[in-house]
Amino acid sequence: MSIISGALYVVATPIGNLGDMSARALEVLQAATVIAAEDTRHSGKLLHHFGIKTKTIALHDHNERMVSESIVARLQAGETVALVSDAGTPLISDPGYHLVAQARAAGCQVIPVPGASALLAALSASGLPSDRFTFEGFLPAKAGARRAKLEQLQDDPRTLVFYEAPHRIEESIAAMAAVFGGERPAVIARELTKTFETIHGDTLSALSNWLAADANQRRGEFVVMVGGAPQAELLVDAEAERVLCLLLEEVSLKQAAALAAKITGVKKNLLYQFALDLAR
Ligand code: SAM
Repeated sequence: MSIISGALYVVATPIGNLGDMSARALEVLQAATVIAAEDTRHSGKLLHHFGIKTKTIALHDHNERMVSESIVARLQAGETVALVSDAGTPLISDPGYHLVAQARAAGCQVIPVPGASALLAALSASGLPSDRFTFEGFLPAKAGARRAKLEQLQDDPRTLVFYEAPHRIEESIAAMAAVFGGERPAVIARELTKTFETIHGDTLSALSNWLAADANQRRGEFVVMVGGAPQAELLVDAEAERVLCLLLEEVSLKQAAALAAKITGVKKNLLYQFALDLAR
């Protein structure tokens, strides 16, 4: 494989199972002048496992802006740099954004070497709609900020994807049940590609009980996926729509929604939202 000098390679590494290291990732890491790693000791073990002796330098959240400048200078001098994080794809809830942005701004070539990412691995096996989703990374640690964030997302019709740490998984699922409603479907993907991989789906309230009942299910690394908010148009059937449209010709939007709710039994706020969407 020919490696391009002066390019920054963004290299994904496994999220557990070392068998997920791609042949191309190994070639790039072997051929690069230097590997910028989130934690040089952590990545050192991976590199040692694969017999790669390329020099490493540290690039983490605390030094990224400063180190990026010197890495861009190295790229401009014709060196080839590979960027890795501790696990999975760099920049996805991991360092690298400033380096990639600076490298591109300086006109350097940035080449992705795709591979594992917990986000896509989890979503692909979740059984939740994956045609549209939003990745929210980690929720805020503090209860108030977390709740505010969840409230922002409560009407989002897309599948919601979060990363979560073991010491917060229980309270996060409980907070989601409180804001989204306990009946919302969700899937917890734990320890993906590792020995205790578990992908478990249920309603949020059932998942809360499941976590509370078994300490083992609260260990390891987590991706939490929540089904999107049910959409009004899916809940307003053809007959309710017909009644609503007739009423809209005669009375205000608010009155039409209220009357249509009485006639059809469909919830007033759904009809109101539906009528608003129609008006738009
Ligand atoms: N860049 C990584 C990626 O591409 O997935 C994510 C890095 S982020 C700092 C680490 C978080 O990713 C963990 O706290 C967990 O939420 C999720 N994660 C990483 N590996 C995982 C795994 N094997 N199973 C489930 N979640 C995982």
